[in-house]
Amino acid sequence: MRKYVIMGVQGSGKGTQAKMLREDLDLVHISVGDIFRWHVRQHTKMGAQVKRIMAAGELVSDELVEEVVRRRMEIHDWNYGFIIDGFPRNGRQAAFFMESYDIDAVIHLELPDDEVRRRVLSRRLCPSCGMDYNLIADRPEQEGRCDICGHELITRADDTPEALESRLTDYHEKTRPVLELFRRKEVVHDVDGRPPVEEIQQAIRKTLGLPAYRGQR
Ligand code: AMP
Repeated sequence: MRKYVIMGVQGSGKGTQAKMLREDLDLVHISVGDIFRWHVRQHTKMGAQVKRIMAAGELVSDELVEEVVRRRMEIHDWNYGFIIDGFPRNGRQAAFFMESYDIDAVIHLELPDDEVRRRVLSRRLCPSCGMDYNLIADRPEQEGRCDICGHELITRADDTPEALESRLTDYHEKTRPVLELFRRKEVVHDVDGRPPVEEIQQAIRKTLGLPAYRGQR
């Protein structure tokens, strides 16, 4: 059983790397942001609660986040382990998580803020199949259309310059201290988030002592 957390500022590639790790290792990828986005799309009561907060790039309340994580973990479909992305994001969430689960490793994707700004503002997403694109490095073949399912691509509501600055501030003020907490437990693996996607994946696997990545994105 492998239990990982992946951390890094928005746009550092957490989601992409987590999905690649999940493939042949049979890990369950748990993204709190994806769960909230699903609720917003489905117009659930929770979706209505978080929509404005997310669009402004602010953090959802700890109570709600903890409830979502607790419910997701209780499904217990993670026989081979999990990789959590976007959580914990502050000291309280870290304490809540560590009370119930041990973590084998924290993968920390490092990326300078300027590169984050460049990437995030060119990010596009397929709302139908979840595939993500980047207009600089990973363009869709046909402009504005998903290569996989053909659906029209969208910009995440929170990928605006204002929301991004708010998320960057939160990351440095609230999430960085969590990383330091994990560092004291000696579970943090720092990985450079600037090279091409496959190279980063290999670096993650090497530092975690996992078999090399052989898949195709
Ligand atoms: P993400 O996809 O991880 O960037 O998450 C998108 C948005 O969901 C964030 O900007 C927050 O509004 C909310 N969110 C996701 N995870 C958390 C968390 N652990 N704590 C608080 N809010 C969160």
